[in-house]
Amino acid sequence: MTTQETRNESGAIDPLGMTSGAFVRAAGESGVGADAARRAYQSVFREGAREVVFGRRGVVPVVHAPIVRELEEETGEGVIRKFVQRLPGVSAPGPGASRDIPHFDIESVLIPMIGRRGVKSHTLCVSSQVGCAMGCGFCETAQMGLVRSLTASEIVGQWWAATHERGATVKNVVFMGMGEPMDNVEAVIDAIAVLTDHNGPSIPMANIMVSTVGKIDGLRRLCEQMRAPGWHKLGIAISINAPNDRVRSQIMPINRATPMAELRDAIAAIPHVGTHKKLCFGYVLIPGVNDREEQAAELAEYLRPFTVSGSDDGTHKGMLNLIPYNPRRDSPWPAPDEAHVDRFLGWVRERGVYAKRRRTKGRDTMAACGQLGTEEIRKRKFVGVRIDQPPAG
Ligand code: SF4
Repeated sequence: MTTQETRNESGAIDPLGMTSGAFVRAAGESGVGADAARRAYQSVFREGAREVVFGRRGVVPVVHAPIVRELEEETGEGVIRKFVQRLPGVSAPGPGASRDIPHFDIESVLIPMIGRRGVKSHTLCVSSQVGCAMGCGFCETAQMGLVRSLTASEIVGQWWAATHERGATVKNVVFMGMGEPMDNVEAVIDAIAVLTDHNGPSIPMANIMVSTVGKIDGLRRLCEQMRAPGWHKLGIAISINAPNDRVRSQIMPINRATPMAELRDAIAAIPHVGTHKKLCFGYVLIPGVNDREEQAAELAEYLRPFTVSGSDDGTHKGMLNLIPYNPRRDSPWPAPDEAHVDRFLGWVRERGVYAKRRRTKGRDTMAACGQLGTEEIRKRKFVGVRIDQPPAG
């Protein structure tokens, strides 16, 4: 957890990576009173202050990665905006000669929503890594490999840029951008602690969702965290995408290490799983791969302990989110046709699964699920480069 002060690469205090408690403690060591420190922290998150006065340390700038590129797409509910922030690069030692990586790009997506009273707000989809090591066959980001994990400050910096540089009202945050959050679980936990801080962004825990392919060690660590007060409301989305091990291992290499039976045990261990309304299963429907009726039946059977509707009190446990496949670049599979998506939805519902289909937003800007990825980096094949000391945003 973010209980200690964090610093950026120049050694300065880095409020975007700290809870208010950690910030106030660090400020106290520099001779700043708790009230003044709390106000300074609030000004960074609520007003977008770009610097804070920090006692003996003088003026501390709020360092965040600049937005260098944006793509927009019109939808019925407003404009979907993908924005790219740029982090400084490094010189990474390699066999023979070192390779210069000029910069790292992080991608985030702002998805508009219109509420019941016509009030506009946004869901912010954040990245937790640059690239991803998981190699899912249907995913654009997988083509890049893992470049590096983001720090908590860099994750929170995506919220800060969306809110204070683009004026968005962010109601929900979903960890569904580039990267596997459970492959960077400590930074993700720290980022959530900041995002939910009442003196900071103050996003309700129930409005945050972490999506994972089911990387077991990370999931277990998150479950442990979810026993802390308030954390049980955190949403968890498991990317299932297949009815059985044969299909899942073909499209998701993680399944070869952790077969579906083991994954099911890990899901069953999520705190409050029996009543958890924020448990969600993602199923990317891919023509010719996982879209037949018998596969719907097999999937329903697998999900039965978690998603069956119609319990006595009328509540459901978890939900299946059916996602029509968005073809990545050079995809071997097409998108499913609309009628077939509805048929598949009917098949799982008939078998008692509480299921919805996700409306596809952002396909043209390559901002839809599984399509985040930077073509430039993808071509460079920086697979497996890990940086121990990441440059801060
Ligand atoms: S779907 Fe998620 S976990 Fe799989 S490769 Fe893409 S970003 Fe990584």
